[in-house]
Amino acid sequence: MKWQDKGQATAAIRAGVPRSPQGEHSEALYLTSSFVFDSAAQAAARFSGEEAGNVYARYTNPTVTTFEQRLALMESTEAAVGTSSGMAAILSTCMALLQSGDHIVASRNIFGSTMVLFNKYLSKFGVDVTYVDLTDLEAWAAAMTSRTRLLFAETPSNPLNDVVDIAALAGIAHQHEAWLAIDNCFCTPALQRPAEFGADLVIHSATKFIDGQGRAMGGAVCGRAEQIDEVVGFLRSAGPTMSPFNAWIFQKGLETLALRMRAHSDHAGQIAAWLQQHPAVEKVHYCGLPEHPGHDLARKQQSGFGGVLSFVVRGGQENAWKVIDATEFLSITANLGDAKTTITHPGTTTHGRLSDEDKALAGIEPGLIRVAVGLEDPVDIQQDLARGLDTL
Ligand SMILES: *Cc1c(COP(=O)(O)O)cnc(C)c1O
Repeated sequence: MKWQDKGQATAAIRAGVPRSPQGEHSEALYLTSSFVFDSAAQAAARFSGEEAGNVYARYTNPTVTTFEQRLALMESTEAAVGTSSGMAAILSTCMALLQSGDHIVASRNIFGSTMVLFNKYLSKFGVDVTYVDLTDLEAWAAAMTSRTRLLFAETPSNPLNDVVDIAALAGIAHQHEAWLAIDNCFCTPALQRPAEFGADLVIHSATKFIDGQGRAMGGAVCGRAEQIDEVVGFLRSAGPTMSPFNAWIFQKGLETLALRMRAHSDHAGQIAAWLQQHPAVEKVHYCGLPEHPGHDLARKQQSGFGGVLSFVVRGGQENAWKVIDATEFLSITANLGDAKTTITHPGTTTHGRLSDEDKALAGIEPGLIRVAVGLEDPVDIQQDLARGLDTL
């Protein structure tokens, strides 16, 4: 069967099931660290790579492989590899594909730990980074040097939902023989497939929407087979591979991903429209709103607008905290990508380390609240937000 010819949902549910002789219908969970061989000769052939097959779970495990195959099909890439977390995916990509003297250009508003990884750790190995505004294509082009090997961006961005033209960014990268990596955490392949717009590498924190129910940590790198082989090589030697148990959870996550992302987008759209007309709200950042500067691009390269939005309340931090503290059931946590709606104050949590100046540059206003809209009834989410907003 050629799963490439089928729809994304079909591949997510059906592709690559290694059914055991028991004939189980649901995917088996192979909780084993090593594999046995029929003979010494087979062991030798497996170790040398002459014969394909499993050897040791730091290399491959059938449960992880199924997840990887399905994700690659969904992302329209040749290959994918699972990792122990989203950060392990980013680290492994850099360790496998970069070397001392290489240069990265990244958007300023990438995930905080990614920035720490670049600034504090990659710099120790002679890889330096230039940060630019996500949407400023001229700044990306101007930051390119003969040493630039990697462009790294998240689109839509956290928490303002800025959107960059992936095809244009890929063009800049390829002009300079560099690779474009997109962290596709916010959209997942259900809403956006960056490789179809020319991105070379697509990176995931599976911990977020791919799991979707806050149970497990994992990540993945998707791309051309040649590049993914390099990443696999690093993972084998260094060890931050995906656990089979987590892969089993993520496999199940992929089966419902398209459905869930549609519901997250639908709910977030409803909440954004309601927030926009609330007198205590100064502005709403959601790329699904026609007024959002990234709206047209999002329509072009996404099939939905995602579940994460942010908004600014009148009265700064004091009122933002009031709205958060007045909620009855929303989870006050910086996590996102869960059936449960989460609410956070970026200025004092995820972006708390930034100076006031940098916060202002990044649009992290004191009154900014981020909501990762979950799958509860939208009317209840709205009422929970209204508890505080209506008192301002
Ligand atoms: C959470 C997150 C990561 C890191 O993933 P972990 O699974 O927590 O290691 C990377 N990028 C984005 C956009 C994220 O939201």
